[in-house]
Amino acid sequence: MNLVLMGLPGAGKGTQAERIVAQYGIPHISTGDMFRAAMKEGTELGLQAKSFMDKGELVPDEVTIGIVRERLSKEDCQAGLMLDGFPRTVPQAEALEQILEGLNKKIDYVINIDVDKEILMERLTGRRICKNCGATYHLVFNPPANEGVCDRCGGELYQRADDNAETVQNRLDVNIQQSQPLLDFYNEKGYLRTIDGQQDIEKVFAEIELLLGGLK
Ligand SMILES: [Zn+2]
Repeated sequence: MNLVLMGLPGAGKGTQAERIVAQYGIPHISTGDMFRAAMKEGTELGLQAKSFMDKGELVPDEVTIGIVRERLSKEDCQAGLMLDGFPRTVPQAEALEQILEGLNKKIDYVINIDVDKEILMERLTGRRICKNCGATYHLVFNPPANEGVCDRCGGELYQRADDNAETVQNRLDVNIQQSQPLLDFYNEKGYLRTIDGQQDIEKVFAEIELLLGGLK
């Protein structure tokens, strides 16, 4: 089975990715891992990517796509694969179609774990960290017994700047803007399957299993 996993920050994509990999034994191919591996192996494309990253520049599509092609050609992708974080744009998605065609493969499903923006805001802004011992809490999912105080050491809890409402809202807006054309593209192709990510983790995975159960 060949899958593309999509979901906004906070949608629970990482958790579901782990479960899919554990259940179906397909490689989890994330952009970050792919780049790190290519650079570590010192492939031509890996070195090119590194030279852009070292300059703090965006890696151009042609390099990224080349790295994806190399990765997807490897032996461990024979029986299936799950992409995560790639493609990010419609041109990348079009390139992926070509790569897969060249390898005699096709995407079975693009699984989008869908969660309302308001819920994502709540999930992403709720984290609190102890100034003293570094323990982490969440106002909704793992609240401390006493507001603002660490259960473990009595230290003061604070919110990281990355987790404040404005920063989170911005990050979500950028992601929504970026992913919508991709969702439209895959919807038109007939690959897109939307899973309600507002259910608990077990139910989300049960829906994914139901979907994937139809594949060999
Ligand atoms: Zn503490």
